[in-house]
Amino acid sequence: MQDPPTVAIVGAGFSGSLLALHLLRAGPPNLRIFLIERTPGFGPGLAYGSHNPEHVLNVRVSNMSAWPEAPDHLQRWLDAQAGTGEAQASAFITRGTFGRYIAEMIQQTIAGPDGAQRLILVHDEAVGLARMADGLRLTLGMGRSLDLDAVVLAIGNQPPAPLKGLGLETLPLADYAPDPWAKGALDGLKVEEPVLLIGTGLTMVDIALALRSRGHRGPIQALSRRGLAPHCHAAVSPVQHPSPIAVDGPLSQLLRRVRGRARAIGWREAVDELRPSAQAIWRTADLQSRRRFLRHLRPWWDIHRHRMAPVVSDRVKAMREDGQLLLAAGRILSIEAARGELAVTWRARGSTDEQTIRVGRIINCTGPGGDPLNARNPLLRDLIGQGLARPDALGFGLDVDDEDHVVDATGLANPRLYAVGPMTKGAHWEIVAVPDIRNQVAGLAKSPGFGFWADAARRIS
Ligand SMILES: Cc1cc2nc3c(=O)[nH]c(=O)nc-3n(C[C@H](O)[C@H](O)[C@H](O)COP(=O)(O)OP(=O)(O)OC[C@H]3O[C@@H](n4cnc5c(N)ncnc54)[C@H](O)[C@@H]3O)c2cc1C
Repeated sequence: MQDPPTVAIVGAGFSGSLLALHLLRAGPPNLRIFLIERTPGFGPGLAYGSHNPEHVLNVRVSNMSAWPEAPDHLQRWLDAQAGTGEAQASAFITRGTFGRYIAEMIQQTIAGPDGAQRLILVHDEAVGLARMADGLRLTLGMGRSLDLDAVVLAIGNQPPAPLKGLGLETLPLADYAPDPWAKGALDGLKVEEPVLLIGTGLTMVDIALALRSRGHRGPIQALSRRGLAPHCHAAVSPVQHPSPIAVDGPLSQLLRRVRGRARAIGWREAVDELRPSAQAIWRTADLQSRRRFLRHLRPWWDIHRHRMAPVVSDRVKAMREDGQLLLAAGRILSIEAARGELAVTWRARGSTDEQTIRVGRIINCTGPGGDPLNARNPLLRDLIGQGLARPDALGFGLDVDDEDHVVDATGLANPRLYAVGPMTKGAHWEIVAVPDIRNQVAGLAKSPGFGFWADAARRIS
């Protein structure tokens, strides 16, 4: 055991930063935390690092507080910010503002008594992990290594999964952007050039808005298998704190119930009612039921559950109405690069006719990936390569036990290695948005085992 007990949190996006703050409040009293982030900011992460004012949260202020026991905390912070004019509980603020909220709490912590001794910010990339006799050794990209009692992986949303079978990987970045969030994904694109966005969910919405704000005038074709776009939040907030519902019974019974409730109280309320129970429903479902849900219901769940803020929906609607943004359901058959453009041949869903469009760039907007087997993240690659971690059964992220310990390739849960946030989606399903992650990290910070690490691993399978 290190003296004082020492952990590293890899990733200072929302999940890692919030875990650090919660641990300092509720974790072991003398715990020392290294918070490791490869990008310059501590707090915003990928999701809240956007400076584009068109990128607003898709959750209302009232549900985005960092502290579950103080739901008005964000609102009070907003009230204290002179001139933001954003402080309504039902408002959707910009993602950049939310990023500043988290970053400011980290900076205030460092500036507070003992802050800099207890929370050490490390601007570096974690690239490797080794088991030691009494703990873990984390290697950083710049050559330093840290000996630790435990490590928490908060590495967040990974770039979209590669689109296989279309030869896209061989195209230069000027033709194909495999990661829509990568710096420069839109660089060099001429404002008149037609663009193809693969995917029609929230990532597509983000990129369409980013194109709009840089003055793009060319047509934007968005394409996905079903062509379903996210729905919009109600102008007035529906049920705020629904109570959990019964989770037993087969999926078909649950579906019937939700449909009935949607008819009775409205679809938004029926979906929101499920929120507090969604993790429990997922956990009690066997692998076969989870697969059936993913195959048949996921596209519908996603567009009803992950909604756009009304202001975003209005912008998307305007882009569609003036004919710039075109949404379609279909399948890409082939992509050919010729004479400085890309000829994309596709077939609309339910049709036998093929059509070809010519675009200047294709952007993968299929949403965050997570399958560690596709990982470009060096730490993930190292963990999988050494067998210190394994993908969950559905390839959403890492296999973890019910206390978020990472399970290794032999099925043993490592008591010193944890994962939080989107990489634990295989275990929890609803663990991507702030309200769920907030509960996860608050629970981990308070868990009696955190701080009492031993090397006895638990067999999962
Ligand atoms: C574009 C976008 C918008 C979203 N908007 C909302 C919203 O409005 N409301 C909502 O509730 N949820 C939203 N989400 C969901 C989002 O998953 C969570 O809200 C939350 O931000 C996830 O935080 P995170 O820290 O787990 O992940 P991330 O934000 O992805 O942060 C992970 C961090 O880890 C760092 N990192 C990764 N690997 C390493 C390494 N090896 N070494 C060092 N650092 C590393 C990365 O640089 C990154 O900063 C959004 C997600 C995305 C992608």
